[in-house]
Amino acid sequence: MIDLRSDTVTRPTAGMWRAISEAEIGDDVYGEDPSVNALEAEVAALFGHEAALFTPTGTMANQIALQLVAPRSSELLCDADAHVVTYEVGAAAALGGISTRTWAAAGGDIDPDVVAAMIRPDGFHAVPTRAIAVEQTHNRRGGEVIPLGTLQQLRRVADAAGVALHCDGARVWNAHVAERVPLTTYGALFDTLSVCLSKGLGAPVGSLVVSSAERIAEGRVLRKRLGGGMRQAGVLAAAGRYAIAHHIDRLAEDHARAARLAEALAPFGVVSGAVRTNIVALDLAKAALDAPALGAAARADGVLVSVLGPRVARLVTHLDVDDAGIDRAIEVLVGILRS
Ligand SMILES: *Cc1c(COP(=O)(O)O)cnc(C)c1O
Repeated sequence: MIDLRSDTVTRPTAGMWRAISEAEIGDDVYGEDPSVNALEAEVAALFGHEAALFTPTGTMANQIALQLVAPRSSELLCDADAHVVTYEVGAAAALGGISTRTWAAAGGDIDPDVVAAMIRPDGFHAVPTRAIAVEQTHNRRGGEVIPLGTLQQLRRVADAAGVALHCDGARVWNAHVAERVPLTTYGALFDTLSVCLSKGLGAPVGSLVVSSAERIAEGRVLRKRLGGGMRQAGVLAAAGRYAIAHHIDRLAEDHARAARLAEALAPFGVVSGAVRTNIVALDLAKAALDAPALGAAARADGVLVSVLGPRVARLVTHLDVDDAGIDRAIEVLVGILRS
């Protein structure tokens, strides 16, 4: 099977398994796991922040970060398609007591003036706005990248209003490689970031929250409360450290393969947006078959695609799909779309 459903489906490489088996470990709830401590220090440094916190999932990393910047009964602004309000099962409200308000989904194309106008003043009527979240790259919008200039404008909007700026950076590595923007440049723009090791970087499990030492100390308490205090988590951290050392630059290969897929499918008018990173979003509004039909036909021919809606599907390239796999996927998908 050529699995293009998500970049989360990868298995550890031989080198990663070796790193896992050789990991130095200890009890991380006591702060005594050397691999976790090293991973947290390395990732904090990559983004030019003081500290980082290892979490089992990106959802937990996002929710800890949101609780750090948006106190209970305050408001978070984000786009309507953001992972934090779409795929986190209402956690901001259910766990953080955070009220969310969204701007119309525009992926990477954010109007900072629209966001600025949404910020509510303090007072006893309105919900006070405390944070803005953006997603880099954007999952539901085909891996779109928010331009650096837009992020800089959003930073100025946040500073002027005294609100925090959070980056859901599950795939910020892809933006870094595609745009050649240093990770420290991204890091400097945000009060908190969440980053994922188990997407394009190919680790089996793990994410981190990146922020100031003070916030991360508080985040450690929040993580324990959420049930995210892990013991000999060094076996996972070792995989993450290996992924960071070996799998960032190679994301360019995933991007080239996604571009090749998009180019092959473009004549059928089904590719939405410009493909910049490792996600190809398919809009089948004008196609002869709908997304479930495409998904079923592709599966029958050994290619797995994500069906996200009646007319929306998604292809994601990753570490476990090589050039031959992309050739085969193109052959299968073109065959289906042509018939
Ligand atoms: C995958 C993802 C997450 C985290 O998801 P988990 O499955 O909880 O690790 C967060 N944000 C975005 C944009 C993602 O794509």
